[in-house]
Amino acid sequence: MIWPVLILSSMAVLSGPLFAQPNAGNPVSLKVDFSLDSVKYIFLHPEEILKDVDQFWQTDAAFQLSARWHRNNNIPGDMDKFREDILRLSKIPAAEREADPVLKLGESIKSGEARFAAAAIPHILGFLPRNGLQMETKIHLTAFTTASAFMTNTQIVANIASPKLSGTANGILNILLHEVYHIGYGIDRLLRSEEPLEDGRAYDVLDVLHNEGLATYVAWKAGSLYPFPDFEDYRMLEDDAVVREKIGKVNALFFQFEKLPKEDFRKLSWEEGVKNRAYYIAGAYMSRTIDEKIGRAALIETIEKGPRSFVSLYNTLAEGDMKITEFPAPRGLSLYSRIFQHLTDHPGSSLTPFDPELEELSRKDGGSLANGMNRLGYRLLYRGRPADAVIVLSKALALFPKDANLYDSLGEVYLKSGNMEKAAENYRKSLELDPNNSNAKKSSRPCQFGDRTPSLMDLRQALRIFFKLFACLPPWVDNGASTSIDNNLLFCCVG
Ligand SMILES: [Zn+2]
Repeated sequence: MIWPVLILSSMAVLSGPLFAQPNAGNPVSLKVDFSLDSVKYIFLHPEEILKDVDQFWQTDAAFQLSARWHRNNNIPGDMDKFREDILRLSKIPAAEREADPVLKLGESIKSGEARFAAAAIPHILGFLPRNGLQMETKIHLTAFTTASAFMTNTQIVANIASPKLSGTANGILNILLHEVYHIGYGIDRLLRSEEPLEDGRAYDVLDVLHNEGLATYVAWKAGSLYPFPDFEDYRMLEDDAVVREKIGKVNALFFQFEKLPKEDFRKLSWEEGVKNRAYYIAGAYMSRTIDEKIGRAALIETIEKGPRSFVSLYNTLAEGDMKITEFPAPRGLSLYSRIFQHLTDHPGSSLTPFDPELEELSRKDGGSLANGMNRLGYRLLYRGRPADAVIVLSKALALFPKDANLYDSLGEVYLKSGNMEKAAENYRKSLELDPNNSNAKKSSRPCQFGDRTPSLMDLRQALRIFFKLFACLPPWVDNGASTSIDNNLLFCCVG
């Protein structure tokens, strides 16, 4: 077995550039990898999928992510329809399927990868803080998923057969640019300087307005690179009456926030904000207003600060009913900000002073505490403070010893700080606790390491394959679908 050695040597190669510490003035970088695996498999081997549809959903990278999309958005997957679509496909002669326009479209998108790197990525980076962070994403091109396009923390799925995505390479690449922008925003949100709202749910709503608004605006601004003139979002954004109506909808939503039960608000927010595009159009108009009136630097500063700052800056530029309702400002520092401050004042120190508060919160709202500590761990990691990230994540694990995601995060912290042994130990614990979250992928990825420079995602993958083969764990191999910054962070861009 030669490849574990390859993994170790890859580590040495990577430990330099990948883990550059965030530093004002440094460039950001973003690497994008397009994959045709899913769409090819569907069109070339539909009969194989029909043998075991569930297995396909568990093993195909795009469909694993799609399954998560269904779970996280509370939208049941329509397996019967999927089966019918694949059955229909399987009845078409193989030669015809191989020449299918969807496959050709996929190939045409894939062939634009170099242009995407040369032109789209600099465009995207022009709307992100230059904080030295290095990011990467994989775009899975597929067909027959319910959502036309969506992203998770580090990966993107696009149903290129969806009529909503225009059916043209340019239109799809325009939407992919929007999605890739989210990857950058998602990483930068860990470095925000503003104090979040006390109500985490309210802050999440502002987050969507900011994130979707910016992504929509950035892709709209890329119209000369990848034209998508018929896209409904852009037609709405260019129509003042529609913009006014969408801002009214956002304000109406915010007005309902405290009045409606949680689940009712979630449904309304999904219906009006996401499906009827109020967050996208209002947020894009807000971004455009800031960019055009006071400049790009001010717009980027809202990303460094956070969505509260975005709304309040926009309001200084907007008149009357075009303003956005602001939520009450937080009265003090959150628990996470206080822990962050404590570790800034006393790096490496124990979190014992916070024990009573942490224990109380773990009883009251364990899920939110685990998630908050996880984000704080990443925030410290991305600020170049892995030792403090270990303190925070270890503290969280003391409270939630069965949380696979926290082990996964701790594994990543060790991986990024070059401690292979500890990384391995924590990834193994994560897999032991939650093997089902790490679904199978029937590929022999390790072979790729000889062909190109491995990425961080490859390394995570490699570690998991390592455990599959050598640690006698069940035969699931994660394809990177269970990324861990925030398990609930899923953006649906074109539903
Ligand atoms: Zn989006």
